[in-house]
Amino acid sequence: MERLEAHDDWKREGLGEGLLERSESRVNQPGDADHDRALWLEQTSRELEQRYQYTIALSPLVVWTAWPNGDILDIDEAGLARTGLSMGEVRGQGFFAAVHPDDRQSVATMWRRNASLGHPIDNEVRMRMRDGSYRWHRSRAAPLKDASGKILRWYGTIEDIHDRKLAADAVRWAADHDSLTGIWARAAFLTGLERAVERAAEAGSVVALMLFDLDNFKQVNDRFGHDTGDALLKDVAVRLSGAAEEPAMVGRLGGDEFALFLARPDSARLAAAIDRAVAALDTPFRYGAITYHCRSSIGVAFYPADGADGDTLRKNADLALYDAKAEGGGTLCYFRGELRLQMQQRLSMLSIARDALDRDLILPYYQPKIELGTGRIAGFEALLRWSHPGRGVQLPATIAVAFDDPELAIALGERMQEKVFADIRGWRERGLDTGRIAINASAMEFRGADFAAKLIARLAAFDVPATCIELEITEGVFFDNSDAHVRRTISTLHDAGITIALDDFGTGYASLAHLRQFPVDVLKIDRSFVQAPTACDWTIVRAIIGLGKGLGIKTVAEGVETNERRDALLNDGCDFAQGYLFSPPVASTGVVGLLEAERAR
Ligand code: C2E
Ligand code: CA
Ligand code: CA
Repeated sequence: MERLEAHDDWKREGLGEGLLERSESRVNQPGDADHDRALWLEQTSRELEQRYQYTIALSPLVVWTAWPNGDILDIDEAGLARTGLSMGEVRGQGFFAAVHPDDRQSVATMWRRNASLGHPIDNEVRMRMRDGSYRWHRSRAAPLKDASGKILRWYGTIEDIHDRKLAADAVRWAADHDSLTGIWARAAFLTGLERAVERAAEAGSVVALMLFDLDNFKQVNDRFGHDTGDALLKDVAVRLSGAAEEPAMVGRLGGDEFALFLARPDSARLAAAIDRAVAALDTPFRYGAITYHCRSSIGVAFYPADGADGDTLRKNADLALYDAKAEGGGTLCYFRGELRLQMQQRLSMLSIARDALDRDLILPYYQPKIELGTGRIAGFEALLRWSHPGRGVQLPATIAVAFDDPELAIALGERMQEKVFADIRGWRERGLDTGRIAINASAMEFRGADFAAKLIARLAAFDVPATCIELEITEGVFFDNSDAHVRRTISTLHDAGITIALDDFGTGYASLAHLRQFPVDVLKIDRSFVQAPTACDWTIVRAIIGLGKGLGIKTVAEGVETNERRDALLNDGCDFAQGYLFSPPVASTGVVGLLEAERAR
């Protein structure tokens, strides 16, 4: 487009014709050698000049020359046409008037510096066009110097880069920002944090890094739909941005994780800024008829106290965030040195679990489930143990965090299934009736798309009927997974003949909706209610039993240690009980002993 216009200008001004006319006014006569050479020379130079004029006229570049101090000497027609300035207006400092006021300072600075040093000029400026609009241009110039290095002239070009620059800016903006919320994306945020720490180091100021993780965000998506989930994320971004006065940056690190850093001259002002950010999320969010109180876990680390660079600061804020989540969410935790120790302990647990798997040290123990009405064994719960070569049999608490690790949780679960199914096959071959054997599944294992299919296939591989198995899941399963996945998985297992028990019932979210939505066969009343001495706790036990009765769900009381509790449970209509009163968990050989003892009774 631009090229065509330039070409038209050139035709209008009769540039080509002028050149031709001049070439015809020659003096030498045809035939003599001098004449031919002169003709050839003239033709060549004419061609060169013509080509130059064409190039200028067709080029999108504006070409100019300036005095050593930068005062414009000459500019081409295109430059005048674009800016609407006359040659008279442009000469000297006049062209400066066409530079955007915001860019004048940087242009002047660059000229001052480079003109004195004789360095080439290259910068991007906005220039006012004939119609008053501004367009981005790239302005370049190189000095012509004499033998002594003195600048004689500047030769420069101005190139319209407006569209290209806007496109490049848009691409960069998109790369640096989160597309949903418009706040900084992870990489750009972390780079910004690094810079802020460097600046704080120079200024001797403090930086606080806050990491936010929305508790139960998945639940919002599930219950209210993804549009509401998106709206919530956007609102969180807006509120955090509003709470963070400069100098600060707000970013979305991924999913429902947000980050905010604040730089302040002193800790007192920083503390006030942190309070504002926390308060920003405290007011409930409203979407039509929905009011949602969004709880979040927040981890905070400070520069310089908790880390000398952005990366360490982020890691330590992450530890603090982990701590906040471990406390059940809805809370803010500051980084403490012990957290690093706790992290090391967690890592050590993971390595113990990995080692126990590698060396095949995992073995199931079984605790009988007693039918309260008859006192007979109605089934067993398989509980993970691992045998330490020197210290003997170890409890699952020694590797507890492995149940939350994506890979280890699955590996442990699968190993337990193999061991348990092998035991069941052995008992069946001996004609022993154990009742259903309950296995525990962590929320992490349950997350796998093929959890149900693999479990059913493994049962078949061990030749164990699904009706021998009960699956214990905690309510965490409902919060870590989409309702659709939970429904599919539970239905598949249930249809295959596996019964479903809700473990630790009453300690989690205890949403009654889950009991209606999913085919739950058994409620396991958590030990904390069964064992606690207060009447209030017992009211909860009674309520859960009543709930079970109403919904046709069996109830199992966990952790029964005394006759008194057993009698109370029996009296209140609880179906089954587990606990040290009847038997602690025992090795697979112990199962045979328990069943034989019962038969002998
Ligand atoms: P849980 O599923 O609630 O298991 C019941 C826990 O209570 C077991 O602890 C059991 O030994 C203990 N217990 C039973 N009767 C009594 C009693 O009368 N008094 C007291 N104080 N405790 C009693 P354990 O075996 O240490 O297991 C702890 C937790 O580890 C389990 O709690 C479960 O959440 C997890 N776990 C154990 N095995 C597995 C497994 O194979 N997979 C998964 N995902 N988690 C497991
Ligand atoms: Ca259990
Ligand atoms: Ca339990």
